Amino acid sequence: MKIRNVVSAGLIGATPKGGWANELNPNDSLHTLIAVHTDEGHTGLGSVFTHQDLVAGALSVLNDLLVGMEFDSPTAITERLHQANFWMGRGGSITHTISGVNTALWDIFGQVTGMPISRLLGGNYRSKVLPYASLLMDDPEIMVPRLEGYASEGFRAFKIGWGRFGRDSAATDRKIIAAAREAVGPDAVLAVDAGGSDGFWPHGYKWAINTAHMLAEYNVAWFEEALSPDDLAGYVELTTHSPVPISGAETLTRRQSFTPFIDARAFDIVQPDVTKNGGIDESMAIGRRAEEAGMRLIPHGWNTAVGLAADLHTAAALPRTDFVEYCTGSAYIDDIVSGGWSLDEQGMLDIPTGPGLGITWDREAIAHYTRGASLFID
Ligand SMILES: [Mg+2]
Repeated sequence: MKIRNVVSAGLIGATPKGGWANELNPNDSLHTLIAVHTDEGHTGLGSVFTHQDLVAGALSVLNDLLVGMEFDSPTAITERLHQANFWMGRGGSITHTISGVNTALWDIFGQVTGMPISRLLGGNYRSKVLPYASLLMDDPEIMVPRLEGYASEGFRAFKIGWGRFGRDSAATDRKIIAAAREAVGPDAVLAVDAGGSDGFWPHGYKWAINTAHMLAEYNVAWFEEALSPDDLAGYVELTTHSPVPISGAETLTRRQSFTPFIDARAFDIVQPDVTKNGGIDESMAIGRRAEEAGMRLIPHGWNTAVGLAADLHTAAALPRTDFVEYCTGSAYIDDIVSGGWSLDEQGMLDIPTGPGLGITWDREAIAHYTRGASLFID
């Protein structure tokens, strides 16, 4: 069986706000789907966290290697792509795009073997995982009804992030967190994301440690991106002294970039994004190394339903990955899955048990957001 072709299409029209200083519009291209087709009629789907034009450009480089390649294993094919493109945007658009290719290859491998990806990765440590409802911070009168709405939908864990947090005053920060804790109740998981990968993040260690002590008063589960993404020394110091767990690394790509952060114990929780870090194989390598260092991996999932599906399989195959991020209010998460996602009475999501990613895609919805692109072979 050979790889016949690889196609990509950006998701457009419903791109959610990201909380960025330079805010996104619905028609901005941020997430791009990839479909890998085999000469035996399989279609594997992947997702890439970057602009559709960058993915198209990267694929024009990768296609020479991929098309016609004998399908042996997702891991081996992907590693050939990494190794062959050492000098070509390594860590950037090439790596981002390989992430989507890797997920699509795993999807195909599961279809060929009749197994869910989680089993092929060595799972299952769990058959369900707790998704946390992830939303942007806002003034309490706007944010509280949203939190209550997600709680009534069955979510038991929440993360609020970005917005005015860290950008106004310590009093504003406390007001937002106090309102959120009151809204979700004393027993719910509540995490807080400062969004330190925002442009020109103004804070360093002093702000972060003072804020961490405030968050501890509200029993916050973890404090995410409290520093600039590259502040390795700052993260080590913060993780050493913070009363609440520290998380980060959503912007890093390639397992090799995570190594110095993991080996230095820079976080309690490491958060690679499967749609840009290199894919499922990369997440597994990062997760295993993190667990050996006493950390756990909780995936960054502010992307698409394809990314969420990949995260569910990874969560099943890593002993300590007991959460996935669920980006609320995104059509690219909610609408492109046939029948949508459903939480059980404990607010858990099932690990899919069907072959490959194990998700039935809503092809009409995907065609709508890709403006009619033909990702599937009929
Ligand atoms: Mg984040």
